[in-house]
Amino acid sequence: MEPSDELRLLEATGIYRLAGSRAAFLDPVRLLGESYRRFRLVPSAYYSRSFGPSRQGGEAQAEGTAPSPDRKKRKRKRQPKPRELNAVERIAEARHQEARPLLISAHNSLLEAKDLLEFLPGMIRGDECRPNVETSSENNFVELGGSWRAPFYEMTICFQNPHGQDEAGTCGVQKRSSPLFNRIVSVEENDEAEGEFQSRLYILPKRSCFMMTDFTHVRDLIPDNPNIGYNLIVIDPPWENGCVRQKEAYPTLPNRNLLYLPVQELAHPAGALLVLWITNREKLRRFVEEELLPSWGVKDPTEFYWLKVKSDGSLIGDLDLFHHRPYECLLLGYINVNRESESGLKFKVVQGSQVIMSVPGAHSRKPPLQKILSEYIPGPKPPRCIELFARELGSGWTSWGNEPLHFQDSMYFSKK
Ligand code: SAM
Repeated sequence: MEPSDELRLLEATGIYRLAGSRAAFLDPVRLLGESYRRFRLVPSAYYSRSFGPSRQGGEAQAEGTAPSPDRKKRKRKRQPKPRELNAVERIAEARHQEARPLLISAHNSLLEAKDLLEFLPGMIRGDECRPNVETSSENNFVELGGSWRAPFYEMTICFQNPHGQDEAGTCGVQKRSSPLFNRIVSVEENDEAEGEFQSRLYILPKRSCFMMTDFTHVRDLIPDNPNIGYNLIVIDPPWENGCVRQKEAYPTLPNRNLLYLPVQELAHPAGALLVLWITNREKLRRFVEEELLPSWGVKDPTEFYWLKVKSDGSLIGDLDLFHHRPYECLLLGYINVNRESESGLKFKVVQGSQVIMSVPGAHSRKPPLQKILSEYIPGPKPPRCIELFARELGSGWTSWGNEPLHFQDSMYFSKK
């Protein structure tokens, strides 16, 4: 099959825009890869969970079409008798029903993009053998950061000498040491650096910055100069929820603590687009809409959806399964932007919901958003971006959290 222009764009940019719907498919590996010159992300290490083709065989089935008789039988066996929803669950269900047509239309347009479906399995496999993603020997930064030794830990950061040789004329590497916790660490060079810590190597993208601290130190991120700040603020909080607790994936924070995030102080005076990842829990949604966003100065948020698909394009789960939706929501809103004077603004204001689709990586790892949102970001270009509760770094980004180096471990990368 001849690749379409959209497929060529996916290969070049990591984004495939789906015609006729408010939806796009993303390849996070390509998008994140733009931060590196000498390294590449290994697709099979990113797509580490097995979201292989659906078991029903044949083509992935569009939502809203009738399942095969076989599948019907299997479904009947597995489905417990539905119980009546309580009042809060009914509100959540109504919200789902409202989003459903948009999600179905996005998914159907993905299933119609035959060249993309053909391309997907290879994109996920990559052409390298799967590296040894041995997560058990990874450093646990959450634990290390909580120890009394934390202020004494240092990372040795190695840069390639741009002139090939150091002053002594012997090697092409320059080294410096930096405290690892509770400090801002920056890679100002236009080339990635390699950080050594406790016998492991971390790949640090060019022009990236991170601060590894607990929530109690988050105010250290506030820029000294009130005239600088961030134009894109992405927040993916460790919301309290059963799934994270069960998997012991990472520590969670009481929801009300988020009221203390210094979002206003981080926002650029010329405006910031704020993106907040939320779960599908109705109580949380209410807290976010009624208390959290107003306390940050964000009005009238727009809802986007991240719809998760397998390598054959089918959804990772039943769209209508109440407690396990195959999608997550993100709320987008502005800080320091007067939407009343929209015509005078030098960027496109987010209007109406959109759907982002991708094959998920590790548990809770979100797709990178800067490129797909670039036209909606206010302020100077390139924008200054920050991610709160980050687990990875990116060029042009400040990443803060108690483990922003988590996915920078060299086991997720290979040398170009
Ligand atoms: N956006 C990330 C990604 O795409 O991989 C996932 C973020 S995850 C939902 C939340 C993160 O917040 C975890 O890395 C967790 O360790 C971190 N976290 C939990 N409690 C924290 C605290 N008290 N201070 C700072 N970070 C915390």
